[in-house]
Parts: sequence; structure tokens; C-alpha cells
Amino acid sequence: MPKFECQTCKQPLSDEVAYYTCYKDKEITHYICDICARRERVDRYKASGHIDTRFLLDATLALSRFEDGVKLKDYRPELRQLYEQEGDTLIQAGFCVRRINVVVRELEQKLWFPWMQKYFRDSEARGHSADGPGFHALLWGAAGRVLLTLRKRTPDGSGEELFEPSITIIFDETSSEARCGIQGLDATETEAVGLLRAAMEHLKEFYPDEAVSVI
Ligand SMILES: [Zn+2]
Repeated sequence: MPKFECQTCKQPLSDEVAYYTCYKDKEITHYICDICARRERVDRYKASGHIDTRFLLDATLALSRFEDGVKLKDYRPELRQLYEQEGDTLIQAGFCVRRINVVVRELEQKLWFPWMQKYFRDSEARGHSADGPGFHALLWGAAGRVLLTLRKRTPDGSGEELFEPSITIIFDETSSEARCGIQGLDATETEAVGLLRAAMEHLKEFYPDEAVSVI
């Protein structure tokens, strides 16, 4: 068993400290405190532009706090240092998420309202899939929410990809108002926008697919 401390900053952990438990093959490999995990996400973004769902939340929150005029002194001390050092990067990433959201809303107008919503509502199947050039699309839902996942298609025979760009959008099954949003992200801005544009251009129909289910 790894020592119960943050692997990065070595601070001892307890229930008082927010931390993550990291696994590989169901075995615990290490622990990391929330602040070090946030730093890792910032560093990953700075190195590659990659945004995962947690970093999306970090960046969105940073931008809205910035716009709300929250002062650095108002942050809790552990976060303050991170914002002092990485605030500009977080805000920049927040704008990046916003630009992706604009294209997500465009997809809602071009695909969801014109046919996807009706297709889903008229079908008894809850899981559907489709393929387009370079992407695989999944559509599934429950309890009035419908999720569309766009994933870069892994070429046959290439084995398992460790990192596969994807974006998941959540829609309201019955509403006619524009209210979709990003539910999950694992991509750079370029990759996410590329997937969204490819879907808008090529996605014309879905097929029921029993392999697609609510996770
Ligand atoms: Zn730490």
C-alpha cells in the first residue's frame, strides 16, 4: 500500500484534506491532494491544450470568479497561491471552454432541434450509435436527459488508445428551448471543435444500438 500522503507535495492526508485516490488495475498506486491535482491539470493544459472535465470546471469557475470581480484575498489560502501563479492560464482556458460552448450551441441548432430530438423521442430504444468520417457518435438517455458523445474513431487494429479525444453534450429530451451544455470533455479546443464540426456536417441519422447504455 502506498503511504497515505500526497505523492507530489508529501503532505500527510486525512479526511480534512481533499484528495484523490489513484488506481491502476484496481490497485491503489498513490494519492494526490486536490491542489496538486489542480496544478497537474493546469500543467497538462499548458503543455498540450488538453482539457478534461475536471479542468473544464476549474477553468469555467476561474473565469466566472474573475468576471464577478472576486479578489485573490477572498480565496481560501491553498487556492490563492494557485490563482496567483496560474490565474491567467485558468482564465484563458475558461475562454477556450466558452468558444467550444458556442459551437456546441450551434450543433444544438443544426442537429438536435431539426431532427435528433424527435428521432430520440420517437424511438423506444434508449441507446443509439452512428459513424462518420473520423468519429463515432453515441446517443443515449434517461430521465429526460439525452447525451450525445462524439469520439475520435480509433483506427482498426491499433489497439487501445490511452487518450481518445471526446466530447459529451447533454440535452433536455422534451424542451424546445436552447439549453444544452457540455457534460464531459477530454480534448483540446481544436479537437473538440473538429469533432463538433464533423458531426454537424456528416451526422444524418442514428441506429439503435444495444451496446450503448446509460453508464
Ligand atoms: Zn499535494
